[in-house]
Amino acid sequence: MGLLTFKGGIHPYDGKALSKDKPVRRLLPKGLLVYPLSQHIGAPAKPVVKKGDHVLAGQVIAEAGGFVSAPIHASVSGTVKGIEDRLTNVGTMASCIVVENDGAYESVEYHPADPEKLSKEEILTRIREGGVVGMGGAGFPTHVKLAPKEPDKIDYVLVNGAECEPYLTSDYRRMLEEPELIVGGLKIMLRLFDNAKGYICVEDNKQDCAEKLRQACQGESRIEVKVVKTKYPQGAERMMIYAATGRKINSSMLPADAGCVLDNVDTVVAIYKAVALGQPLMHRIVTVTGDAIRNPQNFCVCTGTNYAELIDEAGGFDVEPQKIISGGPMMGFALYDLNIPVTKTSSAVLCMKEDIVSQTEPSACINCGRCADVCPGRVLPGKLAVFAEHHDEENFLKYNGLECCECGCCSYICPARRPLTQAIKSMRKIALAHRKK
Ligand code: SF4
Ligand code: SF4
Repeated sequence: MGLLTFKGGIHPYDGKALSKDKPVRRLLPKGLLVYPLSQHIGAPAKPVVKKGDHVLAGQVIAEAGGFVSAPIHASVSGTVKGIEDRLTNVGTMASCIVVENDGAYESVEYHPADPEKLSKEEILTRIREGGVVGMGGAGFPTHVKLAPKEPDKIDYVLVNGAECEPYLTSDYRRMLEEPELIVGGLKIMLRLFDNAKGYICVEDNKQDCAEKLRQACQGESRIEVKVVKTKYPQGAERMMIYAATGRKINSSMLPADAGCVLDNVDTVVAIYKAVALGQPLMHRIVTVTGDAIRNPQNFCVCTGTNYAELIDEAGGFDVEPQKIISGGPMMGFALYDLNIPVTKTSSAVLCMKEDIVSQTEPSACINCGRCADVCPGRVLPGKLAVFAEHHDEENFLKYNGLECCECGCCSYICPARRPLTQAIKSMRKIALAHRKK
């Protein structure tokens, strides 16, 4: 039997060798800490501190702004300098709480608990109060995801350890260095779903992680490690669910509709820390890498730390990069300023000597069909991009434009260098906004 996978996808240069053998180094912040109120999907958090207040690490500085929202916690002790608009890692300005670190690293008192003795409600409350959100990029509040309408119909809880984006190695290091925290987090998730099995899904280019995870879950009858094929975008929600369980979802379904719940490895660790240790989400691993970085690294940093500090700690630039990206090269956001904070969803800073994409002029489509061959959404990217360029929403929808997962495979493969994903992404945004009305 072949390896578990999905149809379509690509095999880009993965660049992971630059940082994969660098153990995670804990980094203490030097400058101001900046906490955007919107680091998750849903309502922005509401500040509960004001200028001049003294805060402790682990203290709530902004409370959830609604049910689909999450609180924000200070990651250091210090003084609130103000609440002001700042540039964020998705390239937009947002309201942020700014804290001056006092260097004392005093924290609130945490209250550990035995997860086996907590009720389901208590587990969900600790996850919600811990400000846990999807750390793989989406930032969806985890307490909402883990409370589907019919929990008894959840058959699979999947831990997404694919890390299929090129260059990223933060999940790889997490799986290698702390597999027991991942298993601990998954066991807590399984407490919420009595009929579910837990699968930890790892690509076959990370056999060392699969082995460590297998050792860590020995004796756990409800947990298995599943090795899936190395292919981009294997870690996309729909692709992973299909590869691991054979179940299909589309753009109008939630994973729970197919009996699945899926979270990435770092989120599962955050669940463990919030529930078992009583510690909120205020740290994350960030890969600082790319051919323009002198000494690529994986850092464990406080949320709110400035990206520029991470680059300095990685030895700075070897050469001035032409392109800097927050996240991976396929789905990340181009940065034009490094004065931005690490948030709960920042996975990497990628600094490249050359910006090949912007340097290439697109030409006319030659109808080669390669975009359709690689498209994991099983749509026709060339056609959809034309509809998008002509603002033809009706045909865009008729040709299933909403089934695009914005993975970037079509743009990557297109010999005419057409910005297919960009065009489809913009049209999807408009169509989704109309669907919500
Ligand atoms: S159309 Fe969407 S899903 Fe298909 S390859 Fe392009 S970006 Fe990926
Ligand atoms: S890959 Fe590019 S050139 Fe080929 S059919 Fe698609 S849009 Fe046209």
